[in-house]
Amino acid sequence: MGKFNDIWVFMEISENEPKLVSLELLAKARELADESGSRAIPVICPNASEHSPETIICALKAAIEEDSPSAFLFGSTPLGREVSAGLSAVMNLGIASDCTNVIYRESNADLLFIRPTFDGKLYASVSLDTTPQIGTFSTGIFSLKENTPDIQTNARTLNLASDENTVKARLVKFVEDAGLADSNIEEASILVAGGRGVGSAEGFDKLRELARLLGGNIAASRGAVDEGWISRDYQVGATGKTVTPKIYFACGISGAVPHVVGMKDSETIIAINTDPAAPIFDVAHYGIIGDLHKVIPELIEILKQTK
Ligand code: FAD
Repeated sequence: MGKFNDIWVFMEISENEPKLVSLELLAKARELADESGSRAIPVICPNASEHSPETIICALKAAIEEDSPSAFLFGSTPLGREVSAGLSAVMNLGIASDCTNVIYRESNADLLFIRPTFDGKLYASVSLDTTPQIGTFSTGIFSLKENTPDIQTNARTLNLASDENTVKARLVKFVEDAGLADSNIEEASILVAGGRGVGSAEGFDKLRELARLLGGNIAASRGAVDEGWISRDYQVGATGKTVTPKIYFACGISGAVPHVVGMKDSETIIAINTDPAAPIFDVAHYGIIGDLHKVIPELIEILKQTK
């Protein structure tokens, strides 16, 4: 690989505001640009919700062929995942998904992506030999530090005029899932999170009741999401959301590293688990060794009596 060129960041704009993950990635890209003597370019995707991912991929492909950036960073959002994966397929580019860090390597003039592997027990360093190198990241992996980065400096706005001949799928209407109206778990001050130990989708009803009594929200591990008991929008962890509530209840969650990276900075962590050796107890401030199906109803009863 020769000279290291620009680092592009896919800026998702929702209701006229850049998404937090886009701002975090832009701040990180500016750090990497300083180290590599290159530029961080915010690639602004106007009214993304009005265009199909295919339209965006076509526009990005044309822009990449024109400017040859060295790297392209995306948020692990539904749109970011779809567009980055589509771009990777269309342009035959390597992609490192759901990374937990990215490092500039001066020796190779490239980026090295770090991501969990083997169920989060190991971290792999991923080197991509196609250009641009593509990486995706969740919200909260990088922090904004003091300042919100301005998105105008060096910005490039995509021309999203759709091409009738090449675009096969067209976005007809954007319908928000009413059931996900409360999935903004990053803002909850109390989270009652459930894992595979909850046992079923119905098992989450009791967690919901506890969360409601405490004025909080529910959340989940990937174990529970993979079982199909709860939507991915509630997932906490390396490939989910990063949360820092005042109180985090981890109910029937083992405490695997990819989960813990998303909740370890919670002010108080209370774990409920039948297995005294579960790693969640290593990060918990308070631990209850017991069956969540008995403990949670008891907590609910106590709260009802005290209200
Ligand atoms: P399990 O590991 O199956 O644990 C269930 C726990 O429940 C056990 O500790 C058990 O003792 C306990 N239990 C069972 N019954 C009861 C009961 N009645 N009462 C109380 N306790 C009970 N995981 C995430 O959570 N978020 C991520 O973002 C994420 N990203 C990942 C990314 C990659 C690349 C990889 C490889 C993995 C990722 N994972 C993620 C998966 C992660 O490694 C674990 O597999 C997952 O967190 C396990 O979920 P769990 O703790 O709910 O399930």
